[in-house]
Amino acid sequence: MSEDAQQDPFGFETMAIHAGASPESITGARQTPIFQNTSYVFHDSDQAASLFNLQQPGFIYSRLNNPTVAVLEERIAALERCIGGTATASGHAAQILALFPLMSPGCEIIASNKLYGGSLNQMGNSYKKFDWHAVFVDPDNPENFRKALTDKTRVIFLESLANPGGVIVDIEAVAEIAHEADIPLVVDNTLATPYLCRPVEWGADIVVNSTTKFLSGNGSSLGGVVTDTGEFPFLNFPDKFPSLGQPAPEYHGLTFAETFGNLAYTTYGHAVSLRDLGASQQPMNAWQTLQGIETLPIRMDRHCANALQIAEYLESHPTVAWVSYAGLKSSPYKSLQEKYMPKGAGSVFTFGLKEGFDAGIRMVESVNLFSHLANIGDTKSLILHPASTSHRQLTDEQRITAGAGDEVIRLSIGLESVDDLIADLNRSLA
Ligand SMILES: *Cc1c(COP(=O)(O)O)cnc(C)c1O
Repeated sequence: MSEDAQQDPFGFETMAIHAGASPESITGARQTPIFQNTSYVFHDSDQAASLFNLQQPGFIYSRLNNPTVAVLEERIAALERCIGGTATASGHAAQILALFPLMSPGCEIIASNKLYGGSLNQMGNSYKKFDWHAVFVDPDNPENFRKALTDKTRVIFLESLANPGGVIVDIEAVAEIAHEADIPLVVDNTLATPYLCRPVEWGADIVVNSTTKFLSGNGSSLGGVVTDTGEFPFLNFPDKFPSLGQPAPEYHGLTFAETFGNLAYTTYGHAVSLRDLGASQQPMNAWQTLQGIETLPIRMDRHCANALQIAEYLESHPTVAWVSYAGLKSSPYKSLQEKYMPKGAGSVFTFGLKEGFDAGIRMVESVNLFSHLANIGDTKSLILHPASTSHRQLTDEQRITAGAGDEVIRLSIGLESVDDLIADLNRSLA
């Protein structure tokens, strides 16, 4: 951990409830109001002009920013020990927004090959339409990231705790490699959440979260957030990062990294990325996610405790070939878990059935309490057979590398009574 890591003003639980929010100034409403509006009246033409020129902060139009969404951005930034945030319509939108200020046509991103299946699709297929090129490497050996570096590499991307295989990456080692190459490290922290792991403490520059999962916490709202430490020195590399390091014609030649200093990346996220890509978060979703975050710490503790108990149960079951949960003593990722997420290994993991594809389909169809669906991070326990669902658009090789072979079942353990969950699995496995 870097020695100058800033100290938090309050404990995590306090920030989860209060960061970014204060009683509303006109009515005194204690709960953050939902500002369900698109636009904001200008005081006069001078004020309007200075807002559009980015000479003063304020609200213009909710595609760019919104007071309810701003509370969410500030809260997650505080929890991630970042200085600013940009909320987006979904986690996938957050990934594109995280990269938009960094990438140009022809540039490369080096990403872990053990990402969420949707991210492998997004990066491997759709990024090509922007002429962005993803190079995937096995994250188990951090040196693989170094070997894939070229002069076109602009960013390294990984998941702190990978969905679905319970893989933990040595963030600190990869951050060093990124910084030696003068590029930022972006970490997707969705499965760990800032409660279990804070990637910036280990050198990450930018963090993305799909708030759809544990942050909102009950499967009600899509959303994503990009947060930034403000520490990467974009101004030192204007040719590599022209979006931030060179004059922007539409803003009368201002250079983001010069004018906004350590807030350059976040300002660009609103003033250019949201303006042009339009993937803004809805105020109602931001509000629901704020309610979820208030209870994140106690929920995550219970998610982790239930998941560990179920992983241990499955490991001893005769029909189960293996269990991949970083919290198990048998996991090859146990020592990385103790370093990066000592409070627990989350609640999403996979296990393999001895009998393969058909048994996987029978299992997801025979559980009662577990819901068969493609989400994670809900209060309700969820089950999925990735090979026949979330990962079926990938090649066999990509699927197996991503930990989604034929025999694999993915669980997201919820907050029900753990005995009831074990009884449900027991019936189904029998
Ligand atoms: C779900 C997920 C995403 C995508 O988030 P959406 O909100 O569904 O767009 C990205 N990364 C990880 C690790 C995820 O689990």
